[in-house]
Amino acid sequence: MTAPTSDGDGTRCVRAGLPEPAPGDPFLPGPVFAAPYHLDPRQGPAASPNGYGRPDNPTRRLLEAAIGELEGGDVRVFASGQAAITGLLLALLRPGDTVLLPADGYFPVRAFATDTLAGIGVRVLFAPTAGPYPSFEGVRLVLLETPANPGLDVADIAALARDAHAAGTLVVVDNTTATPLGQRPLDLGADLVVASGTKALTGHSDLLLGYVATRAPELLEPVSAWRTTTGAVPGAFDAWLAHRSLATLDLRLARQSANAAALARLLADRPDVTGVRWPGLPGDPAYPVASAQLRRVPGVLAFDLGSAERVARFLLASRLVAAATSFGGLHTTADRRAQWGDDTAPGFVRLSCGVEDTADLVGDIAAALDALDT
Ligand SMILES: *Cc1c(COP(=O)(O)O)cnc(C)c1O
Repeated sequence: MTAPTSDGDGTRCVRAGLPEPAPGDPFLPGPVFAAPYHLDPRQGPAASPNGYGRPDNPTRRLLEAAIGELEGGDVRVFASGQAAITGLLLALLRPGDTVLLPADGYFPVRAFATDTLAGIGVRVLFAPTAGPYPSFEGVRLVLLETPANPGLDVADIAALARDAHAAGTLVVVDNTTATPLGQRPLDLGADLVVASGTKALTGHSDLLLGYVATRAPELLEPVSAWRTTTGAVPGAFDAWLAHRSLATLDLRLARQSANAAALARLLADRPDVTGVRWPGLPGDPAYPVASAQLRRVPGVLAFDLGSAERVARFLLASRLVAAATSFGGLHTTADRRAQWGDDTAPGFVRLSCGVEDTADLVGDIAAALDALDT
């Protein structure tokens, strides 16, 4: 059911992708578990939208309709964000092509590029999310990740898309951190959106999901064909759980963002915390572009506690901050990224605000930091 564009975010989330109401039917139909489906003995697969589970699943299609409404494009969901991103890059790039990737973006994407993409003859270039960017001449595809994970720099999607398109370069935006409520890259000129739905989009820390969105059928087609060939599809139960979780996206983001605003202020005022980054904090290097581009600021912030030992003591002293990777979930979590082998400093922390009460979270984190030096 297509929502009129005048609907607010909460209304759009709660209705996204739901079938037309019918008496006796549930609001969101339960997951359809099927590998093969019954076929019409005479017409075969032509008679039904469902023939085999790898290309066809009605639960997955409803989720794709829902995310498609929020992003403003046609969507294919994948088994994980990595399945979506690597699938998109492998489906669209050919040996001899040049790809430009964020130097400060999601670490496994960079590792995949320098390993697998370079290995099949794709030339891999990197640019920092905040710029400067090299000339797009000769670049087949640029991937922007904004806000970037984990450093939270921001790229000006509309300006970069103009420059890239002038050179014939395809523009892809990783919308994981912002979610489609934070920004709609396709409206800002991107050709494709790719994202992990594992994070804030679904937000319950209980599933992996990825998706690609686009308005260009000639770009959707190779991505769909790739997914069918490689089989990188989410299962029906995960697709259903994801759809169920989407309904509360507006509410979750509102609390997460409010919590991040309060924590950013707390952390920025403390001499024992350095390098505080949150794109919504006036004075943050990303603030000017972020405040023009983002409809809401993500509930993720970054800072440095100086050493691995101080991060461990902070986590042990806190009652409400769980040590865990990933972000965007209901529970506040913090991750010392260097423990995963990425290129951040040993005391660098990415903190993801949950939906706890702001006063409880601020009090708990202030107390945990106070305990560090006692
Ligand atoms: C987590 C993440 C991914 C990968 O997603 P998975 O669902 O974990 O495979 C890609 N890009 C960004 C920005 C991410 O944060």
